[in-house]
Amino acid sequence: MTISITSLRKEFPVSSGVEVAVDDINMSIEEGEFISVVGPSGCGKTTTLRCIAGLETPTSGEIVIGGEDVTDIPANKRKLAMMFQNIALYPHMTVEENISYPLKIRGVSRKEQHQQAKEAAEIMQIPELLEKHPGELSGGQRQRAALARTIVQDPEAFLMDEPLSDLDAKLKVEIRKEIQRVHKRVERPTIYVTHDQEEAMTMSDRIFVLNDGQIEQRGTPDELYSEPKNVFVAGFIGNPSMNFLDGKVVDVNRDSISITVEGTQFDFPAHIVGDVSAGDEVVIGFRPEIVNVYPDTEQGDLTGDLSLVERIGDRVLATIDRPSGEVRATVSADNPLDEGEPVSFSFDYSGLHVFDRRTEESIA
Ligand code: ATP
Repeated sequence: MTISITSLRKEFPVSSGVEVAVDDINMSIEEGEFISVVGPSGCGKTTTLRCIAGLETPTSGEIVIGGEDVTDIPANKRKLAMMFQNIALYPHMTVEENISYPLKIRGVSRKEQHQQAKEAAEIMQIPELLEKHPGELSGGQRQRAALARTIVQDPEAFLMDEPLSDLDAKLKVEIRKEIQRVHKRVERPTIYVTHDQEEAMTMSDRIFVLNDGQIEQRGTPDELYSEPKNVFVAGFIGNPSMNFLDGKVVDVNRDSISITVEGTQFDFPAHIVGDVSAGDEVVIGFRPEIVNVYPDTEQGDLTGDLSLVERIGDRVLATIDRPSGEVRATVSADNPLDEGEPVSFSFDYSGLHVFDRRTEESIA
């Protein structure tokens, strides 16, 4: 079972004309793949998912599920299971009745309903909750019951829209694992919508990064992290996010580039893609993980004032204030750094990214 979306466009009528929520989205999801759709608020994630589910009619484009063109087929005929942020368990029904409800609608026998609800509850490790009502459950238990309800539907694919956003941090990690476990077990394609890049990075085989109704980049978590195509993806993927500094190209060869940043020249090996020549204005990007901070102004390549030192586990996140903006570094907690002191920093050249300042596309 595969899902393929071609040239999907969805407009909504608004008082000022039309709002283009998604434009020219192309996706193909393979058998058993777990993919995430990530992007900032309003970029079109939910609209994309609702079009796939059949809850919105595309303005144009085609949606094919399991070889069948379902673009004009209503939601209830699509054999998909959806799970939303606000899980609507029916409060007057027991957990078992909630789980088996999709089967009841399909006219499945009571005995079979009971059997399947029990099995799904066992997969979700909540068999002891079957007689309870949703009001008696914790947030995490409700989410497990909702997952059990999607499992009994035996769908061709799972569609999930921010299913974890109402849960606290610890429960999020727990239910995230459950979703992955269920996915491995049933091996159906899953499309998971989230604004949380970390969630997408930990769960997905592949990620589609959306911005302003369009796909900026698609790829495995590793590809997006190490080879972002543009400034948007570079800044969106990774936490804490990538640092950016403005620079100017001084010299460029096939496999190396020299760039000045605030008067300091950096010469480093690079794989150059696209047109770039001396004098071009660029943005250099480097992740906090590859920055070294020194408690003096001499050792590093660039200087600044250490404005904040925050401990995260066995590392510290150091924020360095500079006239052109902040630079952040995750460094060893043993590093003797004091807030308010002048520092210098350098970064590992092998992890440096270069973007064209005008187009914001990656050039090295
Ligand atoms: P969020 O993360 O905040 O849920 P999203 O990425 O899921 O956002 P969508 O809900 O798909 O984004 O919305 C995409 C764009 O379409 C937004 O600009 C939104 O205002 C607009 N939009 C969505 N639904 C409608 C609607 N029914 N009528 C008018 N505009 C809409």
